[in-house]
Amino acid sequence: MADEIRVRIAPSPTGFLHIGTARTALFNWLFARHNSGKFILRIEDTDLERSEKRFEDDILNGLKWLGLEWDEFYKQSDRIPIYSKYIQKLLEQGKAFHCYHTEEELEKEGREQLAKKGLQRHVCEYKNKDSSAPAHQGIIRLAVDENSKRKIKFNDTVRGDIEFEEKLLGDFSIAKDVETPLYNLAVVVDDYEMDISHVIRGEDHIANTPKQILLMEALGFEMPQFVHLPLILGEDRSKLSKRHGATSMIEYRKLGYLPEALMNFLGLLGFTPPDGKEILSASELIEAFDLVKVHKSGAIFDIKKLDWVNGEYIKKLSEAELVDKLSEFANSDNKDYIFKIMPLARERIKKLSDISEFSYFFQNPDYDKELLRWKSRSDEEVKKSLEEVEKIIEKLGTDEQGKLRNELDELGKKLEDRGLVYWPLRVALSGQKASPDPVDMAEILGKEKTLERVRVAKELVLA
Ligand code: GLU
Repeated sequence: MADEIRVRIAPSPTGFLHIGTARTALFNWLFARHNSGKFILRIEDTDLERSEKRFEDDILNGLKWLGLEWDEFYKQSDRIPIYSKYIQKLLEQGKAFHCYHTEEELEKEGREQLAKKGLQRHVCEYKNKDSSAPAHQGIIRLAVDENSKRKIKFNDTVRGDIEFEEKLLGDFSIAKDVETPLYNLAVVVDDYEMDISHVIRGEDHIANTPKQILLMEALGFEMPQFVHLPLILGEDRSKLSKRHGATSMIEYRKLGYLPEALMNFLGLLGFTPPDGKEILSASELIEAFDLVKVHKSGAIFDIKKLDWVNGEYIKKLSEAELVDKLSEFANSDNKDYIFKIMPLARERIKKLSDISEFSYFFQNPDYDKELLRWKSRSDEEVKKSLEEVEKIIEKLGTDEQGKLRNELDELGKKLEDRGLVYWPLRVALSGQKASPDPVDMAEILGKEKTLERVRVAKELVLA
């Protein structure tokens, strides 16, 4: 179909799916879905030394997990004969040539250019020599006019008109040999063969664009529309890197962010929907998405915002869904028990792994006896209070919250210090300074465990 929207995400499997790649994939996907077009996944694995199967698997799994199903799938390593055909054509037409400089020579040239503060480019002396010369082992370069006065121009949907001076490019490399294309050549051939209408990618690829345009011209291909997305920045406004925290999708997944929440969050990194809404479902994002409105400036990755968005999605989960997810993160099959903890957790956690803050529901807490002490009260007084609490729980159990609270409050009055009752009980049950209400915890733990922990605390306080 002539005017069909066809876009692609083209990750290189040289690392785990990066959060920036996921955002680029999402913008491509949203644009395709908004326009009833096609979203293509292309694995760019021509660099065989750095590409690994485990990274490819991670990229595929990560995109699927996020909900970005692709319509077509390609792998560059399966397509070598296609690239060879075009490389050969360029060689035959004299538009490309073999370069026989050694790496040492090229490095030396680079160093000298740097020292002289001259142009950083390689104008190759083999360009105009008979290419039937040696054994055709040298790398292959595109012949670029070093004296050109022309500016290579293109219009970018996000950044507007962009131009580069042709003569600055030098005779850049396009393949190691006829069977081994390099990045720029493979991208240009694939975007043409796959009928890509819009190349939507990270801003870090802008400098490759003039090279790709020259290749398109040499091969007689039409130019796609270019769309360079703003980079994702850390809070200090430098490019997002490990230093700022997790950068791969898998890490966010392991921390217990929900895919719907991540999609929502990533969709707003560099794009603001017209009504300024912050919580949008996939279909609302598709509906609202507009490439023309993508911001020019870098998008700041604000983890607090992600936590907030994720918390909102956690609140929206059904009870059964939340119990399932929490039991996975708490490593427990006891769903009835998790069901009891769930209401307390739902209000407090930002991500599923925060369930670890409730570890005392799953194992006896470990704490320092100092923590049991209440203000200026003596250890004896704390022990006494715990003994009274023990008696009350032995009598009433933990299921009837109202009654239990009343008796504990009465005890507080008798001791003329509510804190002397509730503080040691909180610590005995949770081992923490900040926890949910002690009576709520006691109900979840049940009579037996509650008593056991109160007794442990009683022993500990005078130990
Ligand atoms: N393979 C490139 C990368 O991993 C992307 C190429 C492109 O989008 O043109 O960054």
